Amino acid sequence: MSSDDIVRLIRPELVGFVGYAASKSPETLAGKVEVPIEEIVKLDANENPYGCSPKVNAALAAYPDLNIYPDAGQTELRKLLQEYTGVSSENIVAGAGSDQLIDLILRLFLEPGDEVINCVPTFAMFRFFMGLSNGRLVEVPRDENYAVRVDAVKAAVTRRTKIILLATPNNPTGTVIPRQDILQILDTAVPVVVDEAYYEFSGETMAPLVNQYQNLIVLRTFSKWAGLAGLRIGYGLFPPKIADCLLRIKEPYGVNAAATVAVRESLKDRDYLMDKVNAIITERERLFAELKKLEWIKPFPSQANFIFCTVLKGKAGELQQQLQRKGILVRYFDQPHLQNSIRISVGKPEDTDALIKVLRELGEKTNG
Ligand code: PMP
Repeated sequence: MSSDDIVRLIRPELVGFVGYAASKSPETLAGKVEVPIEEIVKLDANENPYGCSPKVNAALAAYPDLNIYPDAGQTELRKLLQEYTGVSSENIVAGAGSDQLIDLILRLFLEPGDEVINCVPTFAMFRFFMGLSNGRLVEVPRDENYAVRVDAVKAAVTRRTKIILLATPNNPTGTVIPRQDILQILDTAVPVVVDEAYYEFSGETMAPLVNQYQNLIVLRTFSKWAGLAGLRIGYGLFPPKIADCLLRIKEPYGVNAAATVAVRESLKDRDYLMDKVNAIITERERLFAELKKLEWIKPFPSQANFIFCTVLKGKAGELQQQLQRKGILVRYFDQPHLQNSIRISVGKPEDTDALIKVLRELGEKTNG
């Protein structure tokens, strides 16, 4: 058998699958940046610049049971999340990041040819997991300020629509979907996934309504506010019957033992973590004001831990490369619905200072 023969056996639609443009690990940039690797300012993946709670580090260092599989039923974890969310543990399922839950939800609902409505531009993993499924992605463009067009979403619903995906605040635009709009979309009776990965930064949630709507699913994560992106721990709030199905179709040990310890310790240290969240919110507003002063960049208001900007002069891809050479990593986009734009994660005050300094210098060059 030749290498081509085996490739012919792959599902044809996956041979050319483009994958996800994941953020770069600083180690991979050695020789490509003008600063030592340790000094790289990583503002490209909406990570928490303050790290996790020190209680998490201490508890993980002392954890004795790494030889034992985690509890497949997530009993302690779901209890802890019940206490945090105010929603009963029978509604809750945790995953290896909320990414994994997006995948599981699509697997649970979609038969070949079923449709999923996606309000673009939005979180790229929605499209990614749809690409692995046999479902059909129906894209409903947002308006010029990246608000969801409720009428267009409703008009896109057909007999084949199984899910409507809504990220709020949206990634990469930072836009919040007003509660009234979500309620109107819930009235379609199609299952609605409200992805609240950045909830702790926006303070807006649909979680208390999970028991009133049999078609409402809320996703959350510990990656952002609790600084646990590397441990992969997210959770969802579901109608109990859906939670029950998900617990049975999920891989048993997808959420690792360290993640459970980290959730326990993070929730004990909520005040510490929320202080950091508030520092990030304050810094977001300062970064926004600074970006607004640059006439060649247009920042959009954000309720998350990042700011989306369109680049009005020059190319976003070149800007990203120039910043990278100076040791500052941001995300850039140049694709349908996301033209010539960058997304900057909010860092510490010194990160904002470093970024703004380089942007001013580049602006002088571009305009000079
Ligand atoms: N939803 C949105 C909107 C996100 O931006 C992200 C992370 N980039 C996720 C979900 C996934 O988060 P996790 O790390 O929990 O998989």
